[in-house]
Amino acid sequence: MASVSTALHAYRLWIGGAWEDAASGATLQSENPMTGEAWASIPDADAEDVDRAVAAARAAFTDPAWAGLTPSARGVLLLRLADIIEEHAPELGAVETRDNGKLLKEMAAQAKALARWYRFFGGLADKIEGQVTAIDQPTVFNYTLREPVGVIAAIAPWNSPLLLATWKLAPALAAGNTMVVKPSEFTSASILELMPLFEHAGFPPGVVNVVTGTGGRCGAALTSHPGIDRIAFTGGPETAIAIARSAAERLIPATFELGGKSANIVFEDAQLEAAEAGVLAGIFAASGQTCIAGSRLLVQRSIQAEFVARIVARARAIRLGDPTDPETQMGPAANPAQLEKIKSFVADAVADGATIAAGGGVPRDPALAGGLFHEPTVLTGVRPEMRIAQEEVFGPVLAVIDFEDEADAVRIANDTRYGLAAGVWTLDVKRAHRMARALRAGTVWVNTYRAVAPMSPFGGSGMSGHGRESGLEAIREVTQVKSVWIELSDTVQDPFTLRL
Ligand code: NDP
Repeated sequence: MASVSTALHAYRLWIGGAWEDAASGATLQSENPMTGEAWASIPDADAEDVDRAVAAARAAFTDPAWAGLTPSARGVLLLRLADIIEEHAPELGAVETRDNGKLLKEMAAQAKALARWYRFFGGLADKIEGQVTAIDQPTVFNYTLREPVGVIAAIAPWNSPLLLATWKLAPALAAGNTMVVKPSEFTSASILELMPLFEHAGFPPGVVNVVTGTGGRCGAALTSHPGIDRIAFTGGPETAIAIARSAAERLIPATFELGGKSANIVFEDAQLEAAEAGVLAGIFAASGQTCIAGSRLLVQRSIQAEFVARIVARARAIRLGDPTDPETQMGPAANPAQLEKIKSFVADAVADGATIAAGGGVPRDPALAGGLFHEPTVLTGVRPEMRIAQEEVFGPVLAVIDFEDEADAVRIANDTRYGLAAGVWTLDVKRAHRMARALRAGTVWVNTYRAVAPMSPFGGSGMSGHGRESGLEAIREVTQVKSVWIELSDTVQDPFTLRL
């Protein structure tokens, strides 16, 4: 356990509408990846603290202060929260940048965009409807109710802590559930900063609770807790598998948003300037630390030399630096383990026969020496079976693979265990729609990349997980359907046969 200096900002757990220390009193330090310095302490919660948080969420679920609200009143709380978040977006973005090293302009924009999710789902709160069933029994009235599932455990990773927590919170609260959130131990500050805003908006105590600590202890205690009715997880596949096993023991449902090895596919008939920007956005924005990274560039052979030369030139010109500087285009990796992982992927790719066309290592600029930087890297000569083409790096490393024609592009793009996203660059509308159907991915972007909205469902298949966040689909995930049967006649039922 790290000892914590008094100069650090001391965060506390948010349980039942109050700040609390971990019962053990233990804390962890949160470090700034730009400087390597600890700037905050967070409670290192364990099963005892998780117990208290789940109990608070359970009590709130049936408390009339929450359960008694009309759907419209719940919606108003979410709409009010959206306004408050907008006012505080700059501070929230700054906290995230301090914790994960991503660009301030990206994190501030994400913090501001949270309001869109709370507004969309706030507006939906009073439109969550069952339906009257066209049942074929003349004396029976049958209808469905769509009800909240109960207490939902939300686990968020370090790359976009508030956005990914919000994708879970907004629909779940709109539907009347209560929540216990466990952010990553690397980036717990921003979600704790959000809690007073929930209180200010008028959410009753216990509706949202936050426990912080390590994944292996605090996270596992939460996802295996018998008081949890559903799990919403974003993170890596290994953790997801462990959580799925524990969820299976209690037969509770879970949504898994995992990583990807998404293909950004550039055809010879693409508008190359737009494709170039899309490919850069796909892999170098957020230093590649995003589940939707377009980490495989599939480029048609006829334009390969020209297009790759453009990408290499742009990659070499990317400005690395302090993520809070508006001129910076790429910040550091979020933590030392992540930087080591990126380096090992590049070394393996070279050993497998790939060529480094840009970047390839840690930058030599002494001004960057204190941070966890890796150069924007382009690897050519990649074959689809190589590790660099099959596994997620979660860093600024682009694997370039060429293809002959459309069928070849589909075959290579789908040759992955993942199924999160894909980009297609073509001006042929027929090809665009054919590709959208043929690609195995939860999201297909045509002539754009890295676009999300509260209205549009997001999620993957295979090792990218299952279930959907955002859109109307998200409401289906956080509600359960009840079928109600009402006999309208005075018929007395035969007690020994099933009524069919
Ligand atoms: P993890 O899966 O380790 O962590 C994700 C979240 O799960 C964190 O809050 C973590 O807490 C928590 N956690 C860890 N172990 C457990 C457990 N046993 N039970 C419950 N919760 C647990 O992902 P990482 O952040 O380490 O990243 C690893 C990989 O995940 C990345 O390289 C990338 O492949 C993928 N990833 C995908 C993201 C996406 O947006 N789809 C986002 C981030 C990562 P803690 O951090 O405190 O350990």
